[in-house]
Amino acid sequence: MLLLPATMFHLLLVARSGPARLLGPTPYLPGLEMLWSQRALLLWLTWFGLQVALYLLPARKVAEGQELKDKSRLHYPINGFQALVLTALLVGLGVLVGLPLGELSEMLLPLAFVATLAAFIFSLFLYMKAQVAPASALAPGGNSGNPIYDFFLGRELNPRICSFDFKYFCELRPGLIGWVLINLALLVQEAELRGSPSLAMWLVNGFQLLYVGDALWHEEAVLTTMDITHDGFGFMLAFGDLVWVPFTYSLQAQFLLYHPQPLRLPMASVICLINAIGYYIFRGANSQKDTFRKNPSDPRVADLETISTATGRQLLVSGWWGMVRHPNYLGDLIMALAWSLPCGVSHLLPYFYLLYFTALLVHREARDEQQCLQKYGRAWHEYCQRVPYRILPYIY
Ligand code: NDP
Repeated sequence: MLLLPATMFHLLLVARSGPARLLGPTPYLPGLEMLWSQRALLLWLTWFGLQVALYLLPARKVAEGQELKDKSRLHYPINGFQALVLTALLVGLGVLVGLPLGELSEMLLPLAFVATLAAFIFSLFLYMKAQVAPASALAPGGNSGNPIYDFFLGRELNPRICSFDFKYFCELRPGLIGWVLINLALLVQEAELRGSPSLAMWLVNGFQLLYVGDALWHEEAVLTTMDITHDGFGFMLAFGDLVWVPFTYSLQAQFLLYHPQPLRLPMASVICLINAIGYYIFRGANSQKDTFRKNPSDPRVADLETISTATGRQLLVSGWWGMVRHPNYLGDLIMALAWSLPCGVSHLLPYFYLLYFTALLVHREARDEQQCLQKYGRAWHEYCQRVPYRILPYIY
C-alpha cells in the first residue's frame, strides 16, 4: 500500500527529470508545498462529481450482472461511452471559452497526491461499510480476518448505496476518462511549447484514446471480468482505478512532453500496424468469448469447437481461444508495445507500462487458471492439453 503510491510518485518525478532514468534514484523528494494544492483538490472533486453526475444520467440500456451467491443479479447502467462523449463536449466547450487545459500537465503531482488521499479515505469507507454487509455480499478473498490484508484486497464484492455501484463506477470512468484527459492536456501543452504536437504524441494519444473508447463502448463486457465477478472492492482496485491508471498509464505522454522524440512516417506506420494487430487480436478474442458466453448458438460462434464441463458451461477450443488460453492478454501486450515505441529506444521509462503490464497479466493469468481449475476440474485439464500455451504461442 505504501509501495504503490511511492512507485507512482517516483515515475512522475522521473518522467519530468532530465535523465529520466527509470532505475535511477528519485530525482528529488517533493516537499508538501509541491504536493498539496487547494486548486488540485477542487479540480479533483469537480472531476469526480462530474463523472458521478454523468453515471446517474439515463442510460441507453440497463444490463444484468452475473448470478450472485444468493442467486440474485444486479443491474448496471450502460452509459460509459455517453459519459466519455459528454466529457469531451464539456472539455471542448471549456477550451473554447478559455479553459487553460495545458496547465493540467503542471498539476499532475498535486492531483496525484489528492487522488491518493482520496483512495485511502474511500478504501477506509469501503472497509467500514463491509462490517455491516451480509455474509452473502462478501468477496471470496479479502475476508481473512487480517485487517491490513482485507483492507487491501477488499471485503465486499459489489458495495452499493441504493443502485449506485461503487466498483463498477470506478472501474471505467473517473480514472480511465481521466487518463485520456491528462494525455490531451499533455498534447495541448506540447503544442503551446513547441508550436505543434509531435507525431509521437499524436500516436500515443490516438492509441490510448482508442483503447479507452473501446473499453467504454464495450462497457457491458466488464461485468464478466474478474474484477467485477471475483475481486472485492478495497484499496487494490480503488487505488488502481482512481490513481494508478490515470497517472501512470499517461507516462508515455508525460515522457514525450519533457523528452521530445523524432519519429519518421515509415516508423510511425510500422507502429500503427503493430497497434492494429494487437487491437485486432484483443477485440476479436474478447468479443468472441463475450458473444459465446451470452449465447453459444449465436451464428458468429456456433461453429466453434467446444469442450463440455460438469457445470453445464462450455469452453471454446477453437477460434481465438484455441490459439492460446489468453489470446486477449496477447493482444493487450502487443498494443502496450505499440504505445511505448513512439517514445524511441533511448530510455527504459516509457517501457514501464509494458514491463508492469506483462507482470500483471502473467499473475492475473495464473489466478484465472486456478479459478478455472476449481470451476471446471477435468474439463479444464483437457483444455490445457488441447491448448498448451498460456499467452504467447510456442513460448509461454
Ligand atoms: P478474461 O476476459 O480473460 O476472462 C477469463 C474468463 O474467461 C475465465 O475465468 C473463464 O470464465 C472464461 N474463459 C477462459 N477460457 C475460456 C474458454 N476457452 N472458453 C470460454 N470461456 C473461457 O479476464 P480478464 O478480466 O482478466 O480480462 C479482460 C480484458 O481486460 C483482457 O483483454 C485484459 O487484457 C484486459 N485487462 C486490462 C487491464 C489494464 O490495466 N489495461 C487490467 C486487466 C485486464 P467463465 O468460464 O466463468 O466465463
